[in-house]
Amino acid sequence: MTWRNTSPPSKSGPKLPKPEVTQPEPKADSLPRRRVGLGLGANLGDPAANLRRAVALLREAGLDIEAVSSLYRTKPWGVTDQPDFVNACALARTALEPLALLDLVQATERAMGRRPTRRWGPRPIDIDLLFIEDAPWRDRRLTLPHEGLMQRAFVLLPLAEIAPDLVVGGARVADAAEAIDRSGIVRIGAF
Ligand code: ADP
Ligand code: MG
Repeated sequence: MTWRNTSPPSKSGPKLPKPEVTQPEPKADSLPRRRVGLGLGANLGDPAANLRRAVALLREAGLDIEAVSSLYRTKPWGVTDQPDFVNACALARTALEPLALLDLVQATERAMGRRPTRRWGPRPIDIDLLFIEDAPWRDRRLTLPHEGLMQRAFVLLPLAEIAPDLVVGGARVADAAEAIDRSGIVRIGAF
């Protein structure tokens, strides 16, 4: 996965002499903060309100949310005998390691009343990790980039709004969103 760097070149100040003493451990807020993508979905209660609450809770927990897409109404995927979903994507920055970030989003799901259910079943909130910049991952708990990312229109359409130039598996998100079947997906408004 690659990310086109759009930030201006950093201005480097005058060269300072190397410190003579050992540096203390870096503080948490000075660790590298990687870009992460989040996929949000809900189809119980007030789904749009649930998505907004999830983003507010993640912000309170220290995640630096930098962009949020529009809201989309989407047909359920996999298990179709359930209410329509509302989906959105967000971009954030965090110094958390991948499994710690998964812990955070799963704790947020539980705090919002998510209970274990069948896979792809109805839920008040679903928060998936779509990618962590420069951090592919594959183990029992977590796969990054998310396995369904480039096949699911309900992820690609909102993600293309906020990360069009992201490249996953050789394909640009905006190009994949352009090419995918978008039937059953309606943009319903701003977040
Ligand atoms: P889904 O989102 O596919 O409907 P769940 O939200 O119930 O299903 O997640 C099922 C499992 O997927 C979780 O227990 C989690 O450990 C695992 N998982 C693997 N990769 C990811 C990822 N990128 N983001 C979120 N969960 C993931
Ligand atoms: Mg999930």
